[in-house]
Amino acid sequence: MGEPLPRFEDILEQVSAYNATCDEDLLRRAYVYSAMAHKGQVRVSGEPYLVHPLEVARILADMHLDEVAIATGLLHDLLEDTWVTETELESQFGEHITSLVKALTKISSMEQSFAARQAAQAETFRRMLLASAQDLRVILVKLADRLHNMRTLHFLPEEARRRRIAGETLEIYAPIAHRLGMGRIKAELEDLALEQMHPEEHRQLLDQLQQREENAGEIIEEIRTTIGRILQEHSIQGDVHGRIKHLFSIWTKLRRQGIGVDRIYDFLAFRIIVDTVPHCYAALGLIHQLWRPVPGRIKDYIAMPKANAYQSLHTSVIGPKGQPFEVQIRTRDMDEIAERGIAAHWLYKEGKAPSEDAERVAWLRSLVEGHQENPRDFLNALKLNLYPEEVYTFTPKGEVFAFPRGATPVDFAFRVHTEVGHHLVGARINGRLVPLRTPLSNGDIVEVLTSANQVPSRDWLEIAVTARAKNKIRSWLNRGEKEQAVDAGRRLLEREARKVGLALKQLREDNTLGRLAAEHGFGREDDLLAAIGFGRLSPRELLAPVVRTEPTLPQPMRQRPAKGGEAIIVVKGQRDMLTFRAQCCSPLPGDEIVGYITRGRGVAVHAAQCPNVRKLLFTPEREVEVEWGGDLGAYQVPLHVTFEDRPGMLAAISQAVTSADTNIRSCHLATDEHQIGTADLVVDVHGRDHLERVVGALRRVPGIGEVEAGPSQQARRLQLM
Ligand code: MN
Repeated sequence: MGEPLPRFEDILEQVSAYNATCDEDLLRRAYVYSAMAHKGQVRVSGEPYLVHPLEVARILADMHLDEVAIATGLLHDLLEDTWVTETELESQFGEHITSLVKALTKISSMEQSFAARQAAQAETFRRMLLASAQDLRVILVKLADRLHNMRTLHFLPEEARRRRIAGETLEIYAPIAHRLGMGRIKAELEDLALEQMHPEEHRQLLDQLQQREENAGEIIEEIRTTIGRILQEHSIQGDVHGRIKHLFSIWTKLRRQGIGVDRIYDFLAFRIIVDTVPHCYAALGLIHQLWRPVPGRIKDYIAMPKANAYQSLHTSVIGPKGQPFEVQIRTRDMDEIAERGIAAHWLYKEGKAPSEDAERVAWLRSLVEGHQENPRDFLNALKLNLYPEEVYTFTPKGEVFAFPRGATPVDFAFRVHTEVGHHLVGARINGRLVPLRTPLSNGDIVEVLTSANQVPSRDWLEIAVTARAKNKIRSWLNRGEKEQAVDAGRRLLEREARKVGLALKQLREDNTLGRLAAEHGFGREDDLLAAIGFGRLSPRELLAPVVRTEPTLPQPMRQRPAKGGEAIIVVKGQRDMLTFRAQCCSPLPGDEIVGYITRGRGVAVHAAQCPNVRKLLFTPEREVEVEWGGDLGAYQVPLHVTFEDRPGMLAAISQAVTSADTNIRSCHLATDEHQIGTADLVVDVHGRDHLERVVGALRRVPGIGEVEAGPSQQARRLQLM
């Protein structure tokens, strides 16, 4: 089988070389126990099963991990594949290692249950995998396990199974390795997976490269010597390595550019390792003096590290004989991190988890937590964060913030400061006012505008992409909802009290309210009011025990003609019921609507999407079916437009509105100290489609930022009747 069998003693030696205080006894016990449990088992390759845990341990030792991780590697298949039970494992190796092995067993069983899965389920699986990794060592051992399985994948006879495992590696494990900064493992996983997924292309690529390599050897040497010489002339200590890029990266590039394997020419890469950061930049300058750089290919990841902490300078140049090649320049420390990522810092110190990795661990946690209630959000965040195509942006003062692609000024504002986010009203990108949903691009200078009166809007949840911004917005909204519910509850209770001849003030003063709260199990008066506001407690029932007079009968409902040409809404089966549009959502013809019977004012009609409806602030018995009547009139809808204050804007706005076949009923303009104009318009529309046309026409006007349709933030307060 070519490869020599790994010897435990070699692994032990390797570990003690980087970890002087290593617990050899633990490793030895784990090895012996694993050997005993796996005794007699054989892998598909024909080798004794023990080779697998030993190889996994060796990979973990290559990563320079601690003895807990390596022992876990030796024991990782015991619960799944042998007679060893959790209790026995725990009595031998304690709770911690057992919990790591259990997590790995769980991941493995998830893999099996997804064996027949669709591609879409990869996301679910990735999510569960991350969620089960309370200790990052679980993921690291899993990656080592996967790497060894990939190295021996060709022994598996069933092609379908090989392809499934390789596909899973590309979709799940390579991206995780990438996100943890483990460049070396990621590259190997990808190359091994490519071989299984596209065997023909993989073979052609290898052939082509082998042909080139014969000539390439010479040119690599020539370039290497030239670089070495010029570094020496400028007294820069540096090692230069030349190599052929890894197959998967060449293959993806060919795919992306739609070029055939025979036409690869950009396959050489050089790495220069120097001693200091200034020497990195000096070396870059020297390279550019020797060979012409390819425009747009110079990347400074030293000043702006990638989210996975990768740092390096990159450039591509046209070398001797027109041969293009890539150069990466970095210090030795940076190289360690680029190759080994999170594992580069991992060594156990005094039995404590390493703190340098707080940020990366926090990244994982922030993904796993904070999204529990909305799986779709979670998946989107995960996709964005696992494939971090970063966008680098600047504050006007030159501070750099990196974001996942697709991030918007809303993300930017919450990144600057939570309070800035809460009061965000607008943003300028490179000096121009833009809509808040504008995606940020590399190099953008972003200036956020705030106003003390502004509060977060539910719409921002759709606009923000970072977990940080979404969590902050959500938590503000939740807090806001409680306050609003207390408010609403107070109003409901006040009204009910008045109906039966009581005053809320008096109920509070003689402590009736406090007593009622306690009777219903509420510690604080506010909690009682919130329960009323949320519709969980009826104010009438609450007051029943203290009522002295009979409640007055509800007023009869009267039909009222639709005013101002407003469309008619019909309550199904009851043509003469009075209806009105709720101001919180002001539904338009074309919207799905629901009705709620109010006390004395008829039926309030909300848009089905209205958060007030979804919050079930009203009791379900009061819900009625409603529909739009036959003859649809015109609706007056308020529009709030933000724009760059410059000559001709008013004309442009009015022209845009007219072009969408409607009129401006009223218009109020204002300008503030940021040279931001706001226009509050009221326009006539026939329905949702028409409104969207008007808003679209406005958004297309250059210089217009936000266009908000419908009631203003303030008017969107809960409407309870
Ligand atoms: Mn395994």
